[in-house]
Amino acid sequence: MRVPDERGAERRGAERHDVVIVGGGPVGLCLGVLLAQRGVDVVVLEARTERLQHSRAIGIHPPGLRVLATAGVADGLAADGVRITGGVARSRGRDVARLAFDPPVLAVPQWRTEEALETRLAELAPSALRRGTRAVGAGGAGGAGGAGRAGEGRTDAGCVVRAVGADGGELAFAGRWVVAADGAHSPMRAFLGVAVRERAYPDAYLMGDFADATDDGAAAVLHLEPGGIVEAFPLPGGVRRWVVHVDSPVAAPSAGGLARLIAERTGESVDAETNSMLSAFTVRERLAETMVRGRTVLVGDAAHELSPIGGQGMTLGWLDAEAFAPLLARAAENDGAWPELWAAVEGERRRAAAEAARHAGLNMALGRPLAGPVMAARNAVFAGLYRAEAVRAWTARRFTMQ
Ligand SMILES: Cc1cc2nc3c(=O)[nH]c(=O)nc-3n(C[C@H](O)[C@H](O)[C@H](O)COP(=O)(O)OP(=O)(O)OC[C@H]3O[C@@H](n4cnc5c(N)ncnc54)[C@H](O)[C@@H]3O)c2cc1C
Repeated sequence: MRVPDERGAERRGAERHDVVIVGGGPVGLCLGVLLAQRGVDVVVLEARTERLQHSRAIGIHPPGLRVLATAGVADGLAADGVRITGGVARSRGRDVARLAFDPPVLAVPQWRTEEALETRLAELAPSALRRGTRAVGAGGAGGAGGAGRAGEGRTDAGCVVRAVGADGGELAFAGRWVVAADGAHSPMRAFLGVAVRERAYPDAYLMGDFADATDDGAAAVLHLEPGGIVEAFPLPGGVRRWVVHVDSPVAAPSAGGLARLIAERTGESVDAETNSMLSAFTVRERLAETMVRGRTVLVGDAAHELSPIGGQGMTLGWLDAEAFAPLLARAAENDGAWPELWAAVEGERRRAAAEAARHAGLNMALGRPLAGPVMAARNAVFAGLYRAEAVRAWTARRFTMQ
């Protein structure tokens, strides 16, 4: 693949937009919708020609639903999803604590959420999403910046994203502002030279969706077992997602093996034949050292990759989109955007990411294996604590990002 250079792109004339978003995942699509609703001329570059069907996020927390409601997609998704109205901590078949989620968390597969956002964007700006368009470099417009770095300072001439189309053709997109929403590995972050603080956790998990044979209905259940945590979440269509802590990374997971592990630890019987999604993952956390550099903004996993245990990554990204959309819209109209406001919003979003990362870290610690008697003692303490309504309410708020 030949990578187009910046001068070549400039010679041919870059396609110009107010805002160029790189990455058409849930966060890039959501920001595209929020900007298009405000009349901003936006383009979303997405490397994949087809939406990824592999299931990742399922939980949409109340603040995420608020953003989706603003984007005009919450009602349709709510109709398709399961409202998780409560959580149960259970051990050896006995409930340790019960929490009520009010408002509830919505469970819906990530591909369905992305589909809804993509449809909404197409309604507002039919040609905004460019599938099969991979960003391969970024630099300051008019030669500013150079060496793949966006121009520093917020009064320069914007940023040019160099890309390759599905047919291998060279493309260039100039934005007054450019947004990197290109996920945890974020090539844009590298082009911009933004460093990340990275942390690998020792934890490994198996995850699978199976027909729900439990009596837990719309409740999320955390089985706190000596061998390690088993989490179970309801999904639409009578399906339940199981996430199981394992001792070491599993290279070749099997539905039968996962079903056996669930049965051994929890006593719940899961029919391996009904498995519809299976995966194994380890955990890494990456926090970008800045979310705003020159005329570029990092949002979503590009700015903060969190452990999936805690399930807050997608909602966190939508809250970035909600916070930056008014500033980007304002900057698109008027170059003299207020630096203090940008700094305040960036500071708030970075604090929110650090807080969500701490929450995910605690969740993982809670799920590590523990000798039977120690776990029993710990669970007895939990059971005592969670008799207090205030403790239950506080924990429910933390779990639902409120
Ligand atoms: C197992 C698992 C379970 C999870 N569960 C939850 C949950 O329940 N709740 C929750 O809130 N979060 C959850 N998450 C996290 C959630 O999936 C992510 O936070 C979310 O996908 C981040 O969205 P994003 O748009 O920032 O990035 P992504 O979803 O990674 O999207 C980035 C997009 O950018 C595109 N791209 C990349 N490079 C380029 C390029 N050079 N040019 C153009 N396009 C490019 C990619 O193709 C992709 O479509 C989970 C994650 C995992 C792995």
